[in-house]
Amino acid sequence: MDARSVAGPTTAKPCATCGDLAGRAYPSCAGCAEAVDLPWALAWAALPDPDPVRVIGARAGEYPWPCVDWALRLLPCAGCGGELAAGAPDCPACAAADAARWALPGLTPHERALRTAVVVLRTPSWRRAAVVSTWRLVLPFVVAGVVPAPAELRAVRAQVLAGGYDALAALAAPPLAVPLVPWRRSAV
Ligand SMILES: [Zn+2]
Ligand SMILES: [Zn+2]
Repeated sequence: MDARSVAGPTTAKPCATCGDLAGRAYPSCAGCAEAVDLPWALAWAALPDPDPVRVIGARAGEYPWPCVDWALRLLPCAGCGGELAAGAPDCPACAAADAARWALPGLTPHERALRTAVVVLRTPSWRRAAVVSTWRLVLPFVVAGVVPAPAELRAVRAQVLAGGYDALAALAAPPLAVPLVPWRRSAV
């Protein structure tokens, strides 16, 4: 199954602020952040009485998942003082808050991919650099509707580890759709 080979929304748009594909510079570029965070901002704005403390304290499923994420961003972590669920990499309170948000079932594969990309890029110090780079590469296309398969993410990560980030970042098409370059043959 390859969802991208059928006509799908795979056209990433350029960011008016940084000029790269929208989402590539998330979250440091304001334009990229606005494009990526749109579903979160809309869900939060739709709440009749948005209160981050109440949203985080509610039963799982009571609020839409983007509202849970947005509320976490608005709350400081009592353990490390950082953004809740995105603070210090060794903070147990952040780890618990991050685990709790994923307990809610019902996300579509696309929602899960989008949320994963955002969570990874907002907590780069929590993961290996190649994992962060992989999600940075695919995020503009995820924003456009692409759902990367785990095997494809692994393939992109392998190319990143082999020094292929810049080549993949120069592509206007999803790096997932590009045939794998035999890096190993030329490298080492
Ligand atoms: Zn940008
Ligand atoms: Zn923390």
